[in-house]
Amino acid sequence: MSSEIQLANELIDFIYESPSPYHVVSNLKTTLNSEGFTELPLTSTWKLEAGKKYYTTKNDSALFAFTIGQKNIAETGIKMICAHSDSPGFKIKPQPEMLAEGKYLKLNTEVYGGPILMTWMDRPLSIAGRVSLKSDDILNPKTKFVSINRPLMTIPNLAIHLNRQVNDGIALNKQIDMLPLLGMLNDKLEKDNYLLNLIAEELKVDAAEIIDFDLTLFEYEKGCVMGLNNEFISSGKLDDLAMVHAGTKALLESSNTETTQMLCVFDNEEVGSGTKQGAGSPVLKNILERINFALGNNTEQYFQMIYNSFMISADMAHAVHPNNAGKHDPILHPVINGGPVIKIHANQKYTTDGDSGAVYEMICKKADVPYQKFVNRSDLVGGSTLGNVSTGQIDIRTIDMGNPMLAMHSVRELGGVSDHTYTTKSFVTFYNLK
Ligand SMILES: [Zn+2]
Repeated sequence: MSSEIQLANELIDFIYESPSPYHVVSNLKTTLNSEGFTELPLTSTWKLEAGKKYYTTKNDSALFAFTIGQKNIAETGIKMICAHSDSPGFKIKPQPEMLAEGKYLKLNTEVYGGPILMTWMDRPLSIAGRVSLKSDDILNPKTKFVSINRPLMTIPNLAIHLNRQVNDGIALNKQIDMLPLLGMLNDKLEKDNYLLNLIAEELKVDAAEIIDFDLTLFEYEKGCVMGLNNEFISSGKLDDLAMVHAGTKALLESSNTETTQMLCVFDNEEVGSGTKQGAGSPVLKNILERINFALGNNTEQYFQMIYNSFMISADMAHAVHPNNAGKHDPILHPVINGGPVIKIHANQKYTTDGDSGAVYEMICKKADVPYQKFVNRSDLVGGSTLGNVSTGQIDIRTIDMGNPMLAMHSVRELGGVSDHTYTTKSFVTFYNLK
């Protein structure tokens, strides 16, 4: 097996094992612990040493990992890569059990972010997330993560005979059409608390112990490498777990002990980043201040550190669509396996400018990796990402990039096998800059 396919399969395994942002962070913690990183709880006193590796987490769904270099951080700044742990989908509402026709048991859900709704129909789905349990310490409920490892429900389409216009494009109502079917009630089953009982059984706790939960749906089926020459990665959540995975690989592979490297995995990018664990909050700024002071540096040195730092905001990008090239810019057409894509926007929804773009282009050249550029069609409004939100908190030089992909926000997205290796190589080269 080629090393590119091997890396793509590692990514597919990582996504499969990370069905919620809580599982993303928990899996990253396991990896970092085994690589000699020390956890720094946000609530404890931090003491840092040059040459050591650390991480901290926020809300169990965001993670910040860093290796402290031997040189003074004020002079070297920090080399940062940012990505996000969340993906668009469905969150389960409180008291979610609903009865239809006296027999069907459905779950009440709310849409999270901007999924392509129709891609979620007729697929085996399951449930994953965080459960808060009763605790003697009221301010600190016990936390457990749950992922039900079997196909549990589906959102059935309406048959074409009952919906003759279906192929002309239909509006799916989020409250009516998108509720998953969980089972058929029989005399033995009670409608109420069916979900809580299921979760309790899975966690081996009493259902009365469960106080609250953050649970989302995920596609049960695992991703795969596919295509005529095994050139594609077909999987959910490539946006943005592909960049989380590439950033983590690079942090672990970097051999640079002189300067400081950091990987930031924010939550809630898909809903605008405006939460305490999102890129729009002071979480990163606060962590940077603590790193600075815990190394014995002063406020003046903090600002020196900020202005010597560089950030790669890594979030997936659009490849030109084979059936709809007209939706893209007339000139710039990034393709799958053409290398990482630099995202550019005149009105700065993307942070890239001539300066930061040039830095990343030179990194790619040094890494011997091809790269491409993306701009929106001038009459279409594109998406936003982490970079411009984060610079609202700290003014660091930043470039926005991501790997080219098709079907962004489908439950099953399509990326390139070679691109994953290209971007990982570019990240390693970035972290190794002295
Ligand atoms: Zn994204």
